Amino acid sequence: MNRKGLLIIVSGPSGAGKGTICKELLKRDSGILVSVSATTRQPRNGEVDGVSYHFLSRDQFVGLIEEDGFLEHACVYDNYYGTPKDFVVDQISAGNNVLLEIDIQGALQVKKKYPEGVFVFILPPSMKTLKTRIEGRGSETPESLKKRLSSAVSEIELIKNYDYFIVNDTVTNATDTLQAIITAEKCRVNAD
Ligand code: 5GP
Repeated sequence: MNRKGLLIIVSGPSGAGKGTICKELLKRDSGILVSVSATTRQPRNGEVDGVSYHFLSRDQFVGLIEEDGFLEHACVYDNYYGTPKDFVVDQISAGNNVLLEIDIQGALQVKKKYPEGVFVFILPPSMKTLKTRIEGRGSETPESLKKRLSSAVSEIELIKNYDYFIVNDTVTNATDTLQAIITAEKCRVNAD
């Protein structure tokens, strides 16, 4: 059987812990390639261009949108983020499994273009935990914290567009569940 690779889309509200779960998954499973997103936001301490993100100017980003270079792109909290299309298309066609860790707006765009993707929604154990996690980052003002929490409430309703949800109670449990989902998807009989 010559199967295409899986496209695994992990998303969820800001603070649900999707980034941490994805990092843990990549540590455990070397058979998954991660798509490096492009962004117009400034690099944080320790972030490396081309590894953490492709850091672009607004003009460069808009140029890529015009060239149809993105599988999806979205404006998240005042910065642009996008998934470069060629890497994903080439790797999936070559039979490799690719992971996207993106926001919900982006995931819904991918769903329209590639409905056979595996769409996974990460939920915080409670709104209280979500609030504590966002506060713990130390980078939010009271206004931006309020904005993120109220968008989280409306974003959670979009869970109906996804195939699976995972409650992020602990990183270990959540990553175990994500691995189990991927294992099951690899064993699908009626896949391409
Ligand atoms: P951060 O700036 O904290 O790295 O990421 C902010 C948000 O942007 C997170 O929710 C992250 O999942 C999302 N994000 C990162 N890359 C992409 C992307 O390529 N597309 C979209 N739509 N969202 C992204």
